[in-house]
Amino acid sequence: MQIGADLTGDETVDATGLIALPGLVDLHTHLREPGREDAETVLTGTQAAARGGFTCVFAMANTEPVADTAGVVEQVWRLGREHGYADVQPIGAVTVGLAGERLAELGAMADSAAQVRVFSDDGKCVSDAVLMRRALEYVKAFDGVIAQHAQEPRLTEGAQMNEGPLSGELGLTGWPAVAEEAIIARDVLLAEHVGSRLHVCHLSTRGSVEIVRWAKSRGIDVTAEVTPHHLLLDDELVRSYDPIYKVNPPLRSKDDVLAVREGLADGTIDIVATDHAPHPMEDKECEWQAAAFGMIGLETALSIVQQTMVDTGALTWERVAEVMSANPARIGRATTHGRPLAVGEPAHVVLYDPTAKRTIEPADTASLSRNTPYAGRELPGRVVATFLAGKPTVLEGKLQ
Ligand SMILES: [Zn+2]
Repeated sequence: MQIGADLTGDETVDATGLIALPGLVDLHTHLREPGREDAETVLTGTQAAARGGFTCVFAMANTEPVADTAGVVEQVWRLGREHGYADVQPIGAVTVGLAGERLAELGAMADSAAQVRVFSDDGKCVSDAVLMRRALEYVKAFDGVIAQHAQEPRLTEGAQMNEGPLSGELGLTGWPAVAEEAIIARDVLLAEHVGSRLHVCHLSTRGSVEIVRWAKSRGIDVTAEVTPHHLLLDDELVRSYDPIYKVNPPLRSKDDVLAVREGLADGTIDIVATDHAPHPMEDKECEWQAAAFGMIGLETALSIVQQTMVDTGALTWERVAEVMSANPARIGRATTHGRPLAVGEPAHVVLYDPTAKRTIEPADTASLSRNTPYAGRELPGRVVATFLAGKPTVLEGKLQ
C-alpha cells in the first residue's frame, strides 16, 4: 500500500506529538535461522525489528548452513515474506562456508528470487587480499557491494577486549585498533583500484573514521556503519568482567566513542546498523573468556541514537531518517525502502514518541535472546507504531 491510498474504514492512530519517520532499515542483523533457532528465528527477529521501528532488515550470512547458495538465501527471504513483520533481505556470504578460501556463488545469489546485492563474511574478515579484490570485481556486474568485517586475523588472535591500558590491567588479550584500521585502509585502496563499492561494517575507532574520511575525499566509493553500542558504551564497562559487554569489534575508548559520533554527524559514517546478535543465556552467562561475542539491539537502536546524537544536538530527526532508513536502503539497493514520507510512496512508516522514557527490562523483548547491554538503563523514546506497506506491525507499542 502507498501513502495517500484510500484508507476508508481503517484504523485511526492519534499521532499528536509523535515523530513520523520512514520505516527503519537495518543493514546488519543476525536472524540466526537456519541453524540456531534457539537464539533467534526469522519470525522472532523480525518481530523485534518491528518493535524497534524497522520495516526492512538485512540478514547476515553466518547461519548454519551458511547463506552461500541461492537455496539458503531464498529460504530466508521467503520466511520473511511469509511472516510479514519486516522485509528480509538476505546477505550472501563472500566465500564458501565463510572459510575465506574460495568465492561463493555470488552471481547465483544475485539472480535468485532474493536478489542479493550485499555480500559479507561478517563474523569473519575477508582477509585474503586477492579474494577481496576478486569479490569486489565480481559484484560490479550486478551493482553489488562487499560489506567487510574489518579484523586482521593475525593481529587479533585470542582477542577479548579493546587493546589499551585497561586490557593490560584486566589481563585480557587486546584487540588493537590497528587490526581494524589496517583492513579498512587496504580495502578502500582495493575498491579504488578496481572501481567497486565497499561497505565497512561496524567501524569503531578514531583511526577508522579518519581513513574513511580520507577515502571519501579522494572519491572512493566507500560507505561505513556504526552500531548504537559503539555510539554509547566504552571499554570501562569491561571492568565488571560481565560478558554482556563482550562484543566484536570490542567496546573502544571514550575518545573513539566521540570520534564515531563526530563521523556520523559529519557524514563520514553513512548509517547506523544494529549488529543485532542474539545469543542464548548459556553462551553469555559464563566466564568472560568463554562467552560469545555480541549484543541484541533492534529494539533499542532508535533510543540510543536519540540519546547520543539527537538529544546532544549532533543530528536532526531528518538526518536520523537518512542514517537509519534512506542511506542503508540505498547501500543495500532495497529500492522500496528508505523513501520519503510522501503521497504515492510505499507506506513504510514508524511513529515514535521522543518524550517517553523507559527502563530497559531484558525480558521485555520479542527476541528469543536476552543479551541486551542496557538492562536497568533509562532510555529516551518509544516506538508507538510501525507500518509495513500500510499494514500495522506494531500499534500502541504492541506487536500486531
Ligand atoms: Zn561483524
